[in-house]
Amino acid sequence: MASYLDSVPMSGIIRIRDMMFTVASPFRLDQGDVSFDSPETVKSAMARAIAENRTHYVQTAGVPRLRELIAAKLRDKNHVPVDDDEQVLVSGGGIHALFIVFHALIEPGDEVLVNDPAWPATPGIVLLARGVPVRYGLRESTGWRLDIGELASLMTPRTRVLYLNSPNNPSGGVLTRSDVEQLADLARRHNLWVVSDEAYEDVIFEGEHVSIASLPGMYERTIPVYTFSKSYAMTGLRLGYAAIRDAKVRDRAKKILFYTASNVSSLVQYGGIGALEGPQTCIEEFRAELRARRDLFYRGVADAAGGVFSGQPPAGAFYAFIRINPEWTEPAAVRRGDTHPSLSWTMSEYLIKKGRIGCVPGVDFGAHGEGYMRFCFCRGREELTGAIESMKGLFAKLEVKS
Ligand code: PMP
Repeated sequence: MASYLDSVPMSGIIRIRDMMFTVASPFRLDQGDVSFDSPETVKSAMARAIAENRTHYVQTAGVPRLRELIAAKLRDKNHVPVDDDEQVLVSGGGIHALFIVFHALIEPGDEVLVNDPAWPATPGIVLLARGVPVRYGLRESTGWRLDIGELASLMTPRTRVLYLNSPNNPSGGVLTRSDVEQLADLARRHNLWVVSDEAYEDVIFEGEHVSIASLPGMYERTIPVYTFSKSYAMTGLRLGYAAIRDAKVRDRAKKILFYTASNVSSLVQYGGIGALEGPQTCIEEFRAELRARRDLFYRGVADAAGGVFSGQPPAGAFYAFIRINPEWTEPAAVRRGDTHPSLSWTMSEYLIKKGRIGCVPGVDFGAHGEGYMRFCFCRGREELTGAIESMKGLFAKLEVKS
């Protein structure tokens, strides 16, 4: 029996994860999983919660203390005017928050403006919600900025939501305050909802993070989405949240939260309380270390494969989204009889199978990503250096016209 789900693409990230498990001693630069350990404040809060038998069902939208801390964080740090803890919904990671929010906002056939390249889960979730992702381009030539004129030209009577993701995965682009102001105007003019994915709010090397929900009158039409994964190195624990002022949309979202999770793991929520009650020093420490890793990786790639890969270090997030020299071809010695679907897939399979280097082909993030590769530089320095050494071995013998 056919289902609409059959036409929802299986992200290449899933295939690559599986491939990486077949590689001995891999360099896991394919996934955005920070190598840092969760802070002690998180681990001790969870251990205490176990000792105190806090293992029962809790409130669907989140335990009150966590919602209170998140509401205060949104006000003080993001300048989002959250005026009631009830507006906060705690989810199983940012991905679950996006699932809930898009299902609460859109009707079948509604169009959602989504960046290209984008983290594949976003267009995937829009399709799961029976919406239509309409892609707007981010381009290297403009520093991966979006083009407001292009956005305006994509508007139709079915356009309902504008999805923003700054700092951006995979491009590393960061919206400026002026960009955000223009986007707010556009949303007001076209009466759009905005879903603002701020997963990398703390991973910013140049510029500042501006939450669009902090602009006058914007929180009414904006649902900002966050995660503990990146800021507190809690990727496997699965904790995220969204804030929704509109009571009707919030009620819908709460139903989806209940029907998909009942409540997010009680222990993990106590971990989140530990993270927010404790000192926030890890955020700055992570950022400084990530900046060093970014620079180490870009220097290393220039040295090991400068004729093959090029690009500028990103202003935010922790991905190197770099261009493949279109002259590059897989060496005849390793080329198999079959034809690869794209340059970036050819390169990915070559790096994974011959170099043990995890990576994601740019095309997996959208048509604008073809010709690029994504490497995650949030892995430990040794792993990054190992990958660079491996690249050196792979590309030393290659002649690439540049
Ligand atoms: N948004 C973006 C842009 C991301 O890259 C990610 C994780 N890769 C998330 C949201 C969600 O992360 P998580 O589900 O781990 O909270």
